[in-house]
Amino acid sequence: MDFEPFLIEVSEKEIRAEREKARSLRKTQWWQARLSRGICHYCGKKFPPAELTMDHLIPIIRGGKTTKGNCVPACKECNNRKKYMLPLEWQEYLDRLSSPEQAKENEVIQDSGDEEKK
Ligand SMILES: [Zn+2]
Repeated sequence: MDFEPFLIEVSEKEIRAEREKARSLRKTQWWQARLSRGICHYCGKKFPPAELTMDHLIPIIRGGKTTKGNCVPACKECNNRKKYMLPLEWQEYLDRLSSPEQAKENEVIQDSGDEEKK
């Protein structure tokens, strides 16, 4: 039998369990840190933490798990688009976003170059 990732049937019970896990993952420092960075995973724009939601890269209903690798912050607009677009349309949207212009929005975290003063 072939493995068909998009045809996995997930039971109601599993969905509830993953949502429960997502709830606790939202309380972790790891998630709080991602929110305070405020960058939407998809469009790369900066948002206030309150406007970001947790999104599963692979949706739970398709067998995605609530793990750090599968959960990303998404702005409401991206989250809604993802919900209502077909996977193909969504891919096109992402391709458009990853144009070179977008790359310069990537934040560089740097230490302040302060020298020690004594
Ligand atoms: Zn976004």
